[in-house]
Amino acid sequence: MDIDALAALLSPAAELMLPLLASRAREITSQRFGKTTQIYAPLYLSNLCTNRCAYCGFSADNAIHRRKLSVGEAVAEAQLLLDRGFQHILLVTGEAPAKVGVDYLEEIALALRNRFAAVSIEVQPLEQEEYARLFKAGITAVAIYQETYDRLIYDRVHLAGKKKDFDYRLATPARAAAAGMREVGIGTLLGLADWRLEGLALGLHLAWLRKNFWRTSFTVSFPRLRPAAGHFQPLSPVKEMNLSQLIFALRIFDPDVGLVLSTREEARFRDGMLGLGPTRYSAGSVTSPGGYSHADHEGEQFSIGDQRPIGEVCAAIAAKGFDPVCKDWDMEFQHF
Ligand code: SF4
Repeated sequence: MDIDALAALLSPAAELMLPLLASRAREITSQRFGKTTQIYAPLYLSNLCTNRCAYCGFSADNAIHRRKLSVGEAVAEAQLLLDRGFQHILLVTGEAPAKVGVDYLEEIALALRNRFAAVSIEVQPLEQEEYARLFKAGITAVAIYQETYDRLIYDRVHLAGKKKDFDYRLATPARAAAAGMREVGIGTLLGLADWRLEGLALGLHLAWLRKNFWRTSFTVSFPRLRPAAGHFQPLSPVKEMNLSQLIFALRIFDPDVGLVLSTREEARFRDGMLGLGPTRYSAGSVTSPGGYSHADHEGEQFSIGDQRPIGEVCAAIAAKGFDPVCKDWDMEFQHF
């Protein structure tokens, strides 16, 4: 499908045909992914951050309790997730390369690689050689979101720090793919700019990545702004109906792309979207480092919309006739 067709799917006119879009998205999702929904959990390693992003609880401006997990603490948190049934985990950090750099991430990856089926990262943008090094250590996938493709708004909300460099961030998914990562995830933070234009830019970015890195799998995420320390208010609010249209449009545009719907969204919305496009759900998430071991959630990045534990999320998926899949990869398949 070409980009003009995506523009039509994202248009106000298409909003009037939402049931039709939902039906087509359901058909394509079923053909390509069957009844499966992948399950994963984020593991926050650190909330140290040197950037000032207006919308984020970890922004260097915010007076929150900061910490970085030791390797032992990270393994203990990971064990709790294993005990709950997770096999796919996403290691998340703020951006503080001097303290949470590649050496640290490599050490954590080596400690976890034989315990989990797949370990992914969502950390600061890295160089291609650094991604290659982490791939060797057992990292299978990288998530790196542009936040917004609107340069002016990007500059406005990224107040200070290395993240102000729009172009370096934009080129990061390509560096991760060129390093040999099995999967690369892109996305925008919905609520910063016009969601229709963000959807179009996402489609263009995805199509370019596919053309240039055909060996790599790609996913798209749709995080909507959530309440966080700093109390940033969305510049361009995105309603559930808008988010639905965006998901349907991306699914129709690219039948093979994995679509991620995280616990930022409410349980009701996530359950309603099952089978209509999304292929991967997080569950039982906590967004503070050490948060699985300690219930206070002090120093979290943002508050969670769907607070159900993994068992309840899997039961809701099964109740709608879908299979929650906790493992669809194995480190044995990985050629390091
Ligand atoms: S969005 Fe990322 S880089 Fe920006 S303050 Fe939050 S953790 Fe740091």
